[in-house]
Amino acid sequence: MVVTVSVRNRLIWRVTSQQIREHWSVFKPYLKGTLGTRDSWDFGKGNEPAFCCPECGRYYPVFTATIDHAVPRSLIRIEYTDSLFSNWFVGNTFKLKRTGMISVIPFDTDMRALRLDYRVDEMRGIVQCYESFSPGTVVLEFSVDDLMENLLDNLQPMCAYCNSCKGNH
Ligand SMILES: [Zn+2]
Repeated sequence: MVVTVSVRNRLIWRVTSQQIREHWSVFKPYLKGTLGTRDSWDFGKGNEPAFCCPECGRYYPVFTATIDHAVPRSLIRIEYTDSLFSNWFVGNTFKLKRTGMISVIPFDTDMRALRLDYRVDEMRGIVQCYESFSPGTVVLEFSVDDLMENLLDNLQPMCAYCNSCKGNH
């Protein structure tokens, strides 16, 4: 699981999608649908990174990308698990381990991912992140809902036209 946080350490969709466009090379490895991306393409404004829309197969500047949830938000079902395997989607069901590791990309110029431990408070629908050596000190906390909205593992670039057609499908 990988997320990026705002300047105040929160998960905010507007920040996540903006960060992806502005720091494409940092985020590209974590996203879906990046097959066929090009580091450099001249659309008429000089060389810039390009992505291939997973719906229509056309190339666009990353600058114009909209960010799409591969599994639509409204269809995601959460299943809590103690499995040893990683968190992942099985169809529309996200199997979220009750404890595990999460990578958090901070909002700064370095943007090196921090590896944190987390535990889920199922009753409150809250994810608490902490350093493994200090489980009592929660350094980051967010709702499961916010996690599912901002989880980079479920995000992909898409052209605006295809994204508006896709809706919740
Ligand atoms: Zn498209």
